[in-house]
This record gives sequence, structure tokens and C-alpha cells, in this order.
Amino acid sequence: MNRRNPHPPVVMVVGGMDPSGGAGLCADIQTLSAMGCHAAPVITAITVQDTSAVKCYQLVEAEMIRSQMQSVLDDMTVSVVKTGMLGSREIVAAVSEVLSQRTDIQLIIDPVFSSNNSEALSEYLLSESISELLLPLASLICPNIPEAAVLARKDITATIDADECAALICSSDAKCECLITGTHAESSLVVNRYYRQGRKIKEWEWQRLEFDYHGSGCTLASAIAAGIAQGLQMEQALDKAQLFVIDSLLTGFKPGHGQHIPNRLFHDPGLNIKV
Ligand code: PLP
Repeated sequence: MNRRNPHPPVVMVVGGMDPSGGAGLCADIQTLSAMGCHAAPVITAITVQDTSAVKCYQLVEAEMIRSQMQSVLDDMTVSVVKTGMLGSREIVAAVSEVLSQRTDIQLIIDPVFSSNNSEALSEYLLSESISELLLPLASLICPNIPEAAVLARKDITATIDADECAALICSSDAKCECLITGTHAESSLVVNRYYRQGRKIKEWEWQRLEFDYHGSGCTLASAIAAGIAQGLQMEQALDKAQLFVIDSLLTGFKPGHGQHIPNRLFHDPGLNIKV
């Protein structure tokens, strides 16, 4: 912030609207606001869902998405863009077209292919256009283990090796780094692994919590984007974001009949439980 025009860092979030308020743009806006940033939301899709299931969704036209992004980028200083649900190859191409003109912006990709309950939120083969058109522009991609397998073109029904997926997603000359989250693994601890140029740099172990959460991946990616927008190095941003997420999960609540929702507006740094 500067004295003449004080404002928090602006982060553009490109994703879908979830009427339950658990995932998508609501999760992004709450996380960024709680972490001291201003969110500029670009809507890609209207979804019909609750805390139990996705019923259907309607994508916004790619040209409207391009215009939403361009309009805000022409007006505000945006240092970080975070993408979530993109839904179609046309939308990925539109986002890529805008961002390829703005190499000063850091891109964080949360690759959303389906909801936490495995209902589709994208067309088949979206992962290929994300790999081809967005990865070369990105600073970080943060898939969970099944998403990492899809991006690495591995069989998601077989045992998935995170190290092998990371090496296939971000090869030795890639600029984009990779955080593979372990929430969908079978292990008793959640292990999140951070890779640069396909090599593991660091891993974090967290206690596996009792409930399923709607919007935890969106919360994590937006919290990372907030840290980067505030000038943190990637590793520090990952540390800070995971502490924020675990606290939001520990204070999460169950407003409906399905999954819990992270409480992104109550952040007590004393709560996190690191194993
Ligand atoms: N974005 C939207 C619009 C969604 O509806 C969902 C899941 O339902 C997600 C993203 C991904 O949510 P999560 O953070 O639970 O992986």
C-alpha cells in the first residue's frame, strides 16, 4: 500500500460460482479478504450445487471471460491471477491469450476438473489444454493427487506416485512449480509435496481431519496467491497458506446436509496442529 493511494494488493480470481458459498469464487474472495488482499473475481461458470452434490453448471462464453479480465487488468494493478474452474478448452484459451500479454503477472493454477465428490466440472481433456496453454505461463500449479494423475496422463485408478506425476507435470526446464496435496490419499497423515523442475523441495505433514470439506483446494490456492501478492517467496507463501487452511478447517462448520465448509473468516494462528 502507498500513502497517496492506499489499497491492498489486488488478486484476480478466475473461477466458478458455487451457490452454497463453500467453493469457487466465494471461497477465493473470503480467503483473499481474510488475508489482506482485494479480490477481483472473474466468473467462468454458474454451478447448481449444494454441500452434497453438483447438479449441473452453465459456462460463461469465453469472449465474456476475456473481456472481464481485460477490463480489470486495464484498470487496476494486478500482480497475481489465480485460476480455478475453467470448464472448457475455449475458456482456457481465452485466459491464456490475456495472460500471455502480461508476463509480469504471476499465475497460480488450481486445476479443477471435478468437485470433491467427483462430479465433473469440466469437459473431457481439459487437462491437456491447461498443460499446453496455461502451464508455460504459471508460477505454481497445485493439484491434489487425482488431479496430478490426470495432468500427468496416468491411470487414476492405479496407485499414484506423486513424485512421478510431478516430474511429468513440471519437467526439468519448466518455470512452473508444483504443490501436490495429499488430501485424497489413503495415508493417515495428509502429506503436501512441493516440487521445482520436477524435484521435491519440501514436504509438509498434517493431521488428517475427521470431516470432508467443500472448497479446501480453492482456499489453499487463494491463500498462496495472497502470500505471493504480498511479496512472499513461494516457499514462505506455501507455509503461510497451509497454516491458514488448517485453521480454517479446524474452525469449519456444517451449514447443510453434506460436507463441512472451511471458516475462512475466523483465523486464529494459534490453532494449527502441525504433526
Ligand atoms: N470451483 C467450483 C465452482 C466448484 O464448484 C468446486 C467444487 O465443487 C471447486 C472449484 C473445487 O472445490 P474444492 O476446493 O473442494 O476442490
